[in-house]
Amino acid sequence: MNALLDTLREALGPAHVLTEPSDVLPFVVDWRRRYEGLPLAVVRPADTEEVAAVVRACAAAGVAMVPQGGNTGLCGGATPDRSAAQVVISLGRLNRIRALDPDNDTITVEAGCVLAQVQAAASEAGRLFPLSLASEGSCVVGGNLSTNAGGTGVLRYGNTRELTLGLEVVLPSGDILDLLRGLRKDNTGYDLKHLFIGAEGTLGIITAAVMKLYPAPTAAGTALVACDTPRQAVALLGLARRHGGARLTAFELFSATCLELVLKHYPGCVPPFSPPAGAMSSASAGSQSLTSTPSMRDRKALAWLYPQYVLVEFSDAGDTADLAALTEAVLAEALEAGLIRDAVISASDAQRKALWALRENVSEAQAHEGRNIKHDVSVPTSAIADFIESTDALLEAAFPGARRVTFGHLGDGNLHYNLAAPVGVDPLEFEARLDAVNELVHDSVARFRGSISAEHGIGQLKRDELPRYKSATELSVMRAVKAALDPNGLMNPGKLLATG
Ligand SMILES: Cc1cc2nc3c(=O)[nH]c(=O)nc-3n(C[C@H](O)[C@H](O)[C@H](O)COP(=O)(O)OP(=O)(O)OC[C@H]3O[C@@H](n4cnc5c(N)ncnc54)[C@H](O)[C@@H]3O)c2cc1C
Repeated sequence: MNALLDTLREALGPAHVLTEPSDVLPFVVDWRRRYEGLPLAVVRPADTEEVAAVVRACAAAGVAMVPQGGNTGLCGGATPDRSAAQVVISLGRLNRIRALDPDNDTITVEAGCVLAQVQAAASEAGRLFPLSLASEGSCVVGGNLSTNAGGTGVLRYGNTRELTLGLEVVLPSGDILDLLRGLRKDNTGYDLKHLFIGAEGTLGIITAAVMKLYPAPTAAGTALVACDTPRQAVALLGLARRHGGARLTAFELFSATCLELVLKHYPGCVPPFSPPAGAMSSASAGSQSLTSTPSMRDRKALAWLYPQYVLVEFSDAGDTADLAALTEAVLAEALEAGLIRDAVISASDAQRKALWALRENVSEAQAHEGRNIKHDVSVPTSAIADFIESTDALLEAAFPGARRVTFGHLGDGNLHYNLAAPVGVDPLEFEARLDAVNELVHDSVARFRGSISAEHGIGQLKRDELPRYKSATELSVMRAVKAALDPNGLMNPGKLLATG
């Protein structure tokens, strides 16, 4: 192993081969602090050639490699094991924007570019790079590609996969595969880039990509809508699509429980609606109380929440007044059809941001409540209401009082179906029932022909569950691809697919 470390130091310079525990610490614990690894070293190559040199050296020594981007992944995919025998390859120094081609509407970026940096570069050129996640200040393009990240723009622009035209990849052999083509049409056989997108670093190391840009929208129409049921929200989605077409950019659902958490933990966030007459004294049907002893401020603000909320946004390169008129027309028809109870339309950018904050802070607000059980699932949009209703009922029967913190990108059929411990129950005690809860929820997802991972990937977290939900045939094709590209199993072993 010392010989390998010497080779790596020679290739990268000693300052970029980290072995001291205090130096490697930021790279060995995952975002949610569920996994902590013990690596042989963390290396920080500066360009594609250096990545290739590292991979060749590790391959020759038979040492496993763990690619890492911004380390914001939620499934332990970028965390090494505890064998002290794996090398973490951090791509953070590959952070150059290689080219921006306004006429081709493309940007060529290295894998370590922070997502916000790419968005800013596009914006400076009067374009939009539409991938947008709450972690965009830390996650990097290589990680986004390797997890096929989603986020809030998927409804209109697609996942990272749909935003990608070309890739550059260092294969497990150390060879560089140059697929950096900025073409929207290219029918020359297997489209190899798709193998590496969403592969969670198990097939090679992405070093650069050509990504699509779009015209920057100049106007948005944003509304927060209150309704009673997810079924009404799905009907509203159909209405918004019919009226707005491609201008429908976001359609985010969150329950009263989510809003209650945000208002509790983010004092800067204000309740979006005034209580309806006579509503101060009783909770709305269907909303679950999260706090047994709310403060007076909380009690006043929260006692009457509507059961469900939807954040709807239309955007376009047009006039704000047109989008305001569109938003109003959709909401008026929804009100007439009895689909919604109340709505607020943002009249300024500050108000728009305030409405978005109510949705974007849900995940962090839930984290403040202590450990919880998360599910990042998708089902066909048409099945969302039935999925929520039937899974809620099964959970209530099996785990009475478990609080459902359900939110997500309804327009994409993607739900974060999260669960917190019943009031008064120690979150750790509830978490001990993780396997049983997961099985119940994921079996329900499977009944609706959904996916147990809509956005975050499999990593270590769901690796052992995967065989339950994929057929033997599908798994054997995946294993065949892995064996073809990484015959020695050195590229991020133990992630996505079980080894052996
Ligand atoms: C607050 C918060 C909000 C989030 N919101 C969303 C969301 O809305 N939608 C969403 O999809 N995800 C979301 N995520 C999850 C996460 O941010 C994304 O999965 C992101 O794409 C991971 O990027 P990263 O650079 O941090 O990757 P990492 O965590 O470093 O790595 C993720 C996986 O990719 C592999 N990998 C990384 N770089 C490379 C490379 N260059 N080549 C090959 N493999 C590589 C790693 O080995 C690992 O398997 C969120 C996370 C947080 C903390």
